[in-house]
Amino acid sequence: MTLPRFLGFFLLLGFASSAWADKLKVLLIDGQNNHNWKATTPVLVDALESSDRFAVTVSTSPARNGSKEQWAQWNPDFSAFDVTLSNYNGQSWPENVQKDLEKYVKEGGSLVIVHAANNSFSNWLEYNRMIGLGGWGGRTEKNGPYLYFSDAGKLVRDPRPGRGGSHGPQHEFTVKLRQKDHPIVKGMPAEWKHAKDELYDSLRGPAENVEVLATSYSSKSKKHEPMIMTISYGKGRVFHTPMGHADYSMRCVGFYDVVRRGTEWAATGKVTLPLSNNFPTADKVVSVSRK
Ligand SMILES: [Zn+2]
Repeated sequence: MTLPRFLGFFLLLGFASSAWADKLKVLLIDGQNNHNWKATTPVLVDALESSDRFAVTVSTSPARNGSKEQWAQWNPDFSAFDVTLSNYNGQSWPENVQKDLEKYVKEGGSLVIVHAANNSFSNWLEYNRMIGLGGWGGRTEKNGPYLYFSDAGKLVRDPRPGRGGSHGPQHEFTVKLRQKDHPIVKGMPAEWKHAKDELYDSLRGPAENVEVLATSYSSKSKKHEPMIMTISYGKGRVFHTPMGHADYSMRCVGFYDVVRRGTEWAATGKVTLPLSNNFPTADKVVSVSRK
């Protein structure tokens, strides 16, 4: 190797490692879901990594029929990541993993919850405090109030009896901003059209320290349902969107930007990522083109 080539090699290495160091490290958890996680995880990874802001590591839990030994070996190191994203809806995690997640978020870690991840763990109180609201899994008013916006634009905490979690047939729907100045949604149109998805309604939970940034009107519940939320838990930041039923729901330019900015905000408390030039309008869904 000649000297200039030798130097070039090291310069290149240095450049590659500094570019990597700038990226936010995301731990994406999947492995069980009543949804097609094998189809949606790659879309979530693409949504994040195509922004050049994130490096994603996927940790796949054992399957539902996984052995005790497999579960004992599955021990994600949350603290090694800037942010953890859950695409998991399945059986309870081992107690040590639950405690690790609680400690990680409480001490300033970051968590991102997408769609059916909010169905998980209805009996794990601290998880429910982290995600603010959830659905299914036997959730009722006992898990906390139903949070929605009234037609007059007021946030309502409804403690009356009822189940937690429901949705009608999938359809394209409008996302309406409620906190226009929050960095996650800043610059988005006041209303924009989201790709075909399930519109979750009647989510319930402890709903402590929840800020609802955007809602969608459900013709099933006749309420404006939370669609983009932040929750603070201890010193940690949580970003939660009930959108994202399927790969085609996620392949929406609006969803890509919401997930990118929500994840960056959870990890750093700031948003540097600009909105996509072709962000959806009030009446037009824009899908991400396939590579
Ligand atoms: Zn779904």
